Amino acid sequence: MALVTISELLGQPAAAAFLRGVVARGRYANAYLFHGPAGSGKGTAALAFARAMLCDRGRPAREPTGPVHDDACGACPACRRSARLQHPDLRFLFPVSGEEKELDQTIAETLEALRTDPLFVFSYEKAASIRLSLTRELLRELAYQPFEAAYRAIVVRDADRMREDQYSALLKTLEEPGSTTIWVLTTARPARLPATIRSRCQRIRFAPLPETTLTSFLEARAGVLPREARLLAALSGGSLARALVLRDAEPLRLRDEALGLLAPAIQGDGAGLWKAAQGFMKYGRTGRETLRRMIEFHQLWLRDVLRASVGAPREALANRDRETEIRRQAETLDPREIRRRLMVLEEALHSIEGNVTADLTVFSTMARVAGARLGEGQWPAHPRARWDY
Ligand SMILES: [Zn+2]
Repeated sequence: MALVTISELLGQPAAAAFLRGVVARGRYANAYLFHGPAGSGKGTAALAFARAMLCDRGRPAREPTGPVHDDACGACPACRRSARLQHPDLRFLFPVSGEEKELDQTIAETLEALRTDPLFVFSYEKAASIRLSLTRELLRELAYQPFEAAYRAIVVRDADRMREDQYSALLKTLEEPGSTTIWVLTTARPARLPATIRSRCQRIRFAPLPETTLTSFLEARAGVLPREARLLAALSGGSLARALVLRDAEPLRLRDEALGLLAPAIQGDGAGLWKAAQGFMKYGRTGRETLRRMIEFHQLWLRDVLRASVGAPREALANRDRETEIRRQAETLDPREIRRRLMVLEEALHSIEGNVTADLTVFSTMARVAGARLGEGQWPAHPRARWDY
């Protein structure tokens, strides 16, 4: 996540055009809700939108003949301060977790990382929430006019992580007519926000980022090698945050290890597969996350084989560094069999949401992907697969 202007946002042309239109008209709703998948740039866009509201060029009242102000200029004193999150009329709330006495420091460290590292990725614990004392303080402040700008912009990142009483307090301020406070909420889980809040927000949808956008960003801005960038982009499911986190995990090595698991399964070596499945689980922080990644590597691989079987060019392959093998498999595997394997993997992805033992899942999944040799060549009994292969 970086502090940028609307025009610098990555790969969200529709949302960006809409926001620039709002800034150009200078007529703001009380609240906006940016929703869409995690890592698609909602938080970055929310801050960029807030900066555009606070930019000095947006004031005084626009003259009809003057240049259109539809974004932060990036150069005025207000923009320079908002770029460092030090504008008095910009408030930025995000979920935190841990001991109350350590939260001040956690928040300060997070803000500093956000200011200094353009590739900073927010990551939360499951229980993280918007801090209660901060919303209380903020609500008291709302009784006063903004300090300098015409508006006060409040950005709440992952606004679905609040408590009931925070929502009811928020609701009251959203209903206030003629308010100079503009709320920009973001969420990847809009259904978790109370319907009363959602209905009072203007909703703006963010789409998953296209793979090509992610690939070029990773190469140009994150120093990722081209062969890894393509794989990371394909693995990330349209999330820049996810791609950046995976970047540190040696994706090519992990992929080769994940694909290597299939070898004993294909040879019908049950004992060897069991050993490999257990060995694989020692990587990564938790078995479940490792497992998910391993399955996703296999899915990407099989999708490449499927693409190759219909003559897709090299550029279309996520694992293009192993193109020869992919083409060889595409010649020998029936596309129907590839789809069956993809569905087994999809089913495994669903089953790891439940309480399954990671190494056992690896074992049975790989055995089934390998086909009949270990006696489990059938299609899944209750496939819930996405049919978009
Ligand atoms: Zn400015």
